[in-house]
Amino acid sequence: MKGKVIIFSAPSGSGKSTIIKYLMQQGLNLAFSISATSRPPRGTEQDGVEYFFLSPEDFRKRIDNDEFLEYEEVYEGRYYGTLKAQVERQLEAGQNVILDIDVHGGCRIKEFYGDRALSVFIQPPSVEALRQRLHHRGMDSPEVIEQRIDRAEYELGFAPKFDIVIVNDDLQIAQCQALERLRAFLGK
Ligand code: 5GP
Repeated sequence: MKGKVIIFSAPSGSGKSTIIKYLMQQGLNLAFSISATSRPPRGTEQDGVEYFFLSPEDFRKRIDNDEFLEYEEVYEGRYYGTLKAQVERQLEAGQNVILDIDVHGGCRIKEFYGDRALSVFIQPPSVEALRQRLHHRGMDSPEVIEQRIDRAEYELGFAPKFDIVIVNDDLQIAQCQALERLRAFLGK
């Protein structure tokens, strides 16, 4: 039997990646969909692990070749996209594919896969809490953090379009809620 699709979207810094990492360790046969991006690697990120890091030219070439299920200019000049071949390969292998993508991409993938997909929005308790988390993470400059905050305020408006919304105030509670909903969706 072929796998299902789980979409996670959230403003950057809302704890989405931590929740996804936790879920991947729960024996749910989840495979992470590795997106392509034209942004440079951060910290310890490696090509083919967190992302396929492509040059802007290579990214554009793949858009022209219609290789993406969806793609988005999430930040100015920084493209992110889901490669069709990558997701289809994982689904065909019977894995449940988990995607960490921006709100537009999340809505588009949900539309594409319909009932075969569960879309989850992770909401930070407040914009101020988000700002503090991004500063604390120490991975971005203050300017980039403010860009991310602007973007977050816009993205929060998309929450009602998702199948479920989980407020990440207490990480452990948010992880439990996410696990429960995924188990129900996957019938595990
Ligand atoms: P970051 O630069 O922090 O890794 O990611 C920035 C944003 O890009 C996040 O909101 C992340 O979910 C989103 N993103 C990552 N991969 C994709 C993708 O394949 N498609 C879209 N539309 N957004 C993505």
